[in-house]
Amino acid sequence: MEDKLVDVTMWTGRGLVVIENVPAQVCQDCQEQFYEKDAAMKIQELVSQGFPSSRLVREIKVPIYSLKEGATPALPEDHGI
Ligand SMILES: [Zn+2]
Repeated sequence: MEDKLVDVTMWTGRGLVVIENVPAQVCQDCQEQFYEKDAAMKIQELVSQGFPSSRLVREIKVPIYSLKEGATPALPEDHGI
């Protein structure tokens, strides 16, 4: 087990959210993560508060891919480079 700061990703009522810098013990063999008790409580707190905007650090756009046959690719975007 190795002490690490990990990102936790979860689906919530307001969509996909990421919680950064979560202290966890990570298995070097299978990468399984075990959150420290204090971290698990803080995550639970965010969940029960419904991820309030006052705690929001930043937002990112997330690309979605699909293995479903016939899924329609979005048009390529102009990233303004
Ligand atoms: Zn393991």
